[in-house]
Amino acid sequence: MMIIELKGKIFEKVTELAEQESLEVYVIGGFVRDKIINRKSKDIDFVIVGSGIDFAQKLAKLLNPKIKVSVFKNFGTAMFKYKDTEYEFVGARKESYQRDSRKPIVENGTIQDDQNRRDFTINALAISMNKASFGNVVDPFGGLKDIEAKIIRTPLDPDITFSDDPLRMMRAIRFATQLNFDIDENSYESIKRNKERIKIISGERITDELNKIILSKQPSIGFNLLFDSGLLEIIFPEMYNLSGIEKNNNVGHKDNFLHTLKVLDNISENTDDLWLRWSAILHDIGKPKTKKFVDNSWTFHNHQIVGANMISGIFRKMKLPLNEKMKFVRKLVEMHHRPISLVTEPITDSAIRRLVFDAGEDLDALLTLVESDITTQKEEKQHRFLTNYQKLRVKIKELEEKDFIRNWQPPIDGNEIMKLLNIAPSKIIGVLKDEIKDAILDEKIENSYEAAYEYLLFLAKKNNLLKDEK
Ligand code: ATP
Ligand code: MG
Repeated sequence: MMIIELKGKIFEKVTELAEQESLEVYVIGGFVRDKIINRKSKDIDFVIVGSGIDFAQKLAKLLNPKIKVSVFKNFGTAMFKYKDTEYEFVGARKESYQRDSRKPIVENGTIQDDQNRRDFTINALAISMNKASFGNVVDPFGGLKDIEAKIIRTPLDPDITFSDDPLRMMRAIRFATQLNFDIDENSYESIKRNKERIKIISGERITDELNKIILSKQPSIGFNLLFDSGLLEIIFPEMYNLSGIEKNNNVGHKDNFLHTLKVLDNISENTDDLWLRWSAILHDIGKPKTKKFVDNSWTFHNHQIVGANMISGIFRKMKLPLNEKMKFVRKLVEMHHRPISLVTEPITDSAIRRLVFDAGEDLDALLTLVESDITTQKEEKQHRFLTNYQKLRVKIKELEEKDFIRNWQPPIDGNEIMKLLNIAPSKIIGVLKDEIKDAILDEKIENSYEAAYEYLLFLAKKNNLLKDEK
């Protein structure tokens, strides 16, 4: 019997209350698993063989009468926050499912019933909080052994576990990715058999799990499993379509799915930003639609534009936020080819200024993306590209120090152009505005109001826009 002695005020009080109320109480699930593998957990779950809500309210009073307990009556759970940790309390229950829904029929049950409804053996471990058995690990399915062997396995028949709640298929792959565990073969074969069942799960819940995969240390583990199990084709066909190599005249192209995974793993070494990681996933998403065989080679002309135009549709379908995060991803996808020409051709200051101006506050993110996009196996080439990007970063810095271009706005804006020339809103305003911006970025004129004003008059005259002087 394994014993884990949990220390701390909360556990002491739980034991005290459990004895006082003569209730069986356990810590269960993720916290126990994480404790054993020495991983940080954010939340702690308790199972009470009795009422979880009642127990939570009494415990909160005992700890600090000011604690606010949130009660979810429909689910029979309650939770509160205490010193930065979330504690959740649930009555032990027995669940049975019907085929067409994730909503189980719930009855009160024993601790064993409650463990039976858990998704994986490593998530079904419980630690007793009662005095006589304090710290005893209750492990009906060999979860400890599976932690040791690094295996994700369902406690009961996987076909039943996954069919009852298909989200568990995503969770299996998510835990395999986060913990770097293998999925037990029997369970994995069952995911393949039950993949179609994922369709009864809402987009939000699928995306929640997907985002956890994306935020793991090495997200490719999860995407390879999603691909191989057949789930990816159902939940994210656009990414699935990146896969494969077509040959013509014996000329092939790289497998863009594998390339994308490499870029995603690369970027994950440099950023924990979910949206920057999403931009890596989506950077080449336009390639399948733009693929052509021309002059004996494969081209993906304008794939970044076509890809950028796919972003809002993908975000909508996957229930990702349709806000500035989406705009950021779209912008990075659209711009991810811009810096490449700056490291393969001779660079001019004005080309760099234009990049800095167009990328604005997302310049660093863009450079992180393009550096991650170097996946060539040839060491010489990889080295050359990376050093060129380093040089580009240095040049950008020098120019920025000179010009403050990153958040720069041209000294005369559209409103002012209309006022100065006394003309109504029309297309020409935008044209004039861009010409002034370009002239400054190309150092044809000085970056000042006076110079811009003078240049505007010059342009206006040239285009016959000055009404007075006609
Ligand atoms: P993390 O908090 O890191 O996501 P976790 O294992 O704590 O991991 P939670 O989603 O917090 O996962 O769930 C807590 C526990 O509830 C799990 O350990 C598991 O025992 C159980 N559980 C959660 N979701 C399911 C599910 N869909 N099916 C069966 N059991 C589940
Ligand atoms: Mg948890």
